[in-house]
Amino acid sequence: MVLFEKAPAKINLSLDVLGKRTDGYHDVEMIMTTIDLADRVRLYAIEQDRIEVSLESRYVPSDERNLAYKAAVAFKRRYGLPFGVHIHIEKNIPVSAGLGGGSTDAAAVLRGLNRLCSFGIPEEELADLGAGIGSDVPFCVYGNTAIATGRGEKVEPLASPPSCWVVLAKPNIGVSTRTIFQQIKLEQLMHPNTKEIVHALSNKDFEHMCSSMGNVLENVTLTLYPEVQRIKDIMKHMGAPGVLMSGSGPTVYSLVENYSKAKRIYNGMRGFCQEVYLVRLLG
Ligand code: ATP
Repeated sequence: MVLFEKAPAKINLSLDVLGKRTDGYHDVEMIMTTIDLADRVRLYAIEQDRIEVSLESRYVPSDERNLAYKAAVAFKRRYGLPFGVHIHIEKNIPVSAGLGGGSTDAAAVLRGLNRLCSFGIPEEELADLGAGIGSDVPFCVYGNTAIATGRGEKVEPLASPPSCWVVLAKPNIGVSTRTIFQQIKLEQLMHPNTKEIVHALSNKDFEHMCSSMGNVLENVTLTLYPEVQRIKDIMKHMGAPGVLMSGSGPTVYSLVENYSKAKRIYNGMRGFCQEVYLVRLLG
């Protein structure tokens, strides 16, 4: 049997860092939502008792460093696997972009193996297992729209945003999440108003959502990579409404209600940036 799992990217409507933990990680508060830009993960049983990963990407290894591979190993350790498994990833989400590409592949593998083996493991357990693989994996197990706290492992669902388009522009650089977190100066952070976004989501209030969005990592990334600031400025100049960097960047996105306006911004951005996408919010 061959099984497919869609692995959608996420964007951060908010990203706040509340403090540093004794385990070296940071306590975060993030509102994330899934978008219709997705990898496709194909899984099937093989005779040999091993885990194989294949994908065509210059930037992502297919060996044990791949988060999809790590997810399969973690799944096998906890639940056992009655057969070997081959995992093929069709990579559509840009890498090291702030869109959670690796995390969503890992989450898709956990969901996919659960289906392939007919184990019926509840999502909460898969999310708990995913937390050991990466901070964004628990959210990606559930998808939709949610607030994640702790290291990212405590996930609570939220109302989905009002339906709209997302224009994404990824400058031609990759950003390491670890590097950005290392540069944070806790006392200088401008915290977003997370409660206001939750409010805006429950009221399906597009304007309020856009005006409340914020990401504390933005200033750090913008200072290190002026290219990201440039892309953000161009997008704003084109009249894009909610413009924000996702995750640790460098992808910058705008939420737009109206398709023809979104298409205009998308076309405009293509003159400045190689990787531009126009997709719907899924969350
Ligand atoms: P986040 O927003 O969760 O920090 P990101 O979108 O910035 O993630 P990813 O695309 O997940 O970053 O990639 C980060 C690193 O993870 C890269 O160095 C990449 O080689 C590695 N990686 C491992 N497995 C995968 C995978 N399946 N897909 C993408 N990257 C992977």
